[in-house]
Amino acid sequence: MIFAIDDTFTKELPADPITINQVRQVADCCYSYVDPTPCVAPSMIHVSPDMMDKLGITAEDTKDPSFVKLMSGNEVPQGCFPYAMCYGGHQFGSWAGQLGDGRAINLFETVVNGRRWALQLKGAGLTPYSRSADGLAVLRSSVREYLCSEAMYFLGVPTTRALSLVQTGDMVLRDVMYDGHPAYEKGAIVCRVAPTFIRFGNFQILAARGETKNLKALTDYTLKHFFPELGPPSKETYIRFFESVAQKTIDMIVHWQRVGFVHGVMNTDNMSILGLTIDYGPYGWLENYDPGWTPNTTDAHGKRYRFGNQPAISSWNLYQLANALYPLIEEAKPLEDIIHSLQDRYESAYREMMKKKLGFTTSFDEEKGLIASLEELLHSSEMDMTLFFRTLSDFDKGNDTTFVEKLSGMSYSKSFDQFIPAWKEWLDRYNQLLLLHADPHKKALMDSVNPKYVLRNYMAQIAIDAADKGDYSFIEEFYTLLQKPYDEQPEYQRWFALRPEWAEHKIGCSMLSCSS
Ligand code: AMP
Ligand code: MG
Repeated sequence: MIFAIDDTFTKELPADPITINQVRQVADCCYSYVDPTPCVAPSMIHVSPDMMDKLGITAEDTKDPSFVKLMSGNEVPQGCFPYAMCYGGHQFGSWAGQLGDGRAINLFETVVNGRRWALQLKGAGLTPYSRSADGLAVLRSSVREYLCSEAMYFLGVPTTRALSLVQTGDMVLRDVMYDGHPAYEKGAIVCRVAPTFIRFGNFQILAARGETKNLKALTDYTLKHFFPELGPPSKETYIRFFESVAQKTIDMIVHWQRVGFVHGVMNTDNMSILGLTIDYGPYGWLENYDPGWTPNTTDAHGKRYRFGNQPAISSWNLYQLANALYPLIEEAKPLEDIIHSLQDRYESAYREMMKKKLGFTTSFDEEKGLIASLEELLHSSEMDMTLFFRTLSDFDKGNDTTFVEKLSGMSYSKSFDQFIPAWKEWLDRYNQLLLLHADPHKKALMDSVNPKYVLRNYMAQIAIDAADKGDYSFIEEFYTLLQKPYDEQPEYQRWFALRPEWAEHKIGCSMLSCSS
């Protein structure tokens, strides 16, 4: 075994006394022991070099046959006691009761260079929390999670990580668009890695069931291991804990808005207590800048999880977390005060972030108006978000005419010309403000927050289509490219381009269901 196991979650928190792997309501505990279901013929598709490094394992280690066995759940090493966590959650605004790790099985925790990591397999079979589903994951969604979670890390966005992507050799039945056309797809397992996978929903289920003792145990555990700076457990510490989670969550959302990431399913069971992006399902990346866009077809009607609504939804989710922590605090006012401060906190963090995207680090009167008018124009003229911001660092007064011409090549609008006067006006105003307030290192600053490369929706689909045929070269190429999203990497220039027309209405490129 290449890892030194150092479990705390299972050592310090109560386990489900029942060890039969049967779907059920699991009360009075935080998790259930359950072994992964062996798969037929696991083969390794990709291993994250950066995550290997973080975990202190070598390329040699990953080539040992025991590694793929471990990463597929086919071998449970000595001293490893796999388990699934119990959590609940609000899905699309309604309380859904017990959810839990329906297809994620935690292997163990390990501490490397002073950092604690938990490893879990997503798609390794049924657990007591699988409800009516199969506990498996398909190659399509696993490629998406593997590449995107790693890409987000390299973008500087707080996120869970991925160590490996394994093909299981099993076939999995999925009805991709939920329209009565189920088909078999290749199965896969991602080994996800994070300091902890505890979600808002872990607290919620205990509060909903009135299990205050377990709620306190889980909160104290979380404080001890992940928020030690807040001090020993007390009512005041619990309030500070909520405030800290709120701040981390806001920081994460500001990053999402910065890079144009739309999570797609911001249910409270998909909110990490550490403010990490977690559960990559029907997520998407903004192409044409549209605050109303959601990649998730299940959400197409209400668009609850649209790009522009992510900040408001994160506040709504934090409100649910506050309700869950209330039994430990028994005083609403301090929690309400924090809730009421969320919008202001978000808005000021968002404005600072947007200013950096534009090359400013000081405050000035017109900043709010400049940002608002830009957002409007980006939206109406259907500008590609990534192309626009990355190219903007090359703009100056001397090249404004050619710059406007450049803009037409970054827009999806069929009638871009009508927006030229408005763009000229905006650029004029921008230029005047740059002359007065630009950061002395404007270009370097802008290029450090405006990525050149993100995992565009159609890129993920290209990697999936090839992988489905056994060709993993795009996974390799995108992993390499997305390790340095802020570097020019001219050899990869073809990925710094508008979405191709074929991808506009292709399933998987602009529309995704929760089917995974
Ligand atoms: P999600 O919307 O993917 O975050 O999932 C919501 C809940 O459904 C979680 O409890 C998941 O573990 C569970 N779930 C999703 N897909 C499956 C599956 N194929 N098998 C078992 N449980 C699943
Ligand atoms: Mg989930």
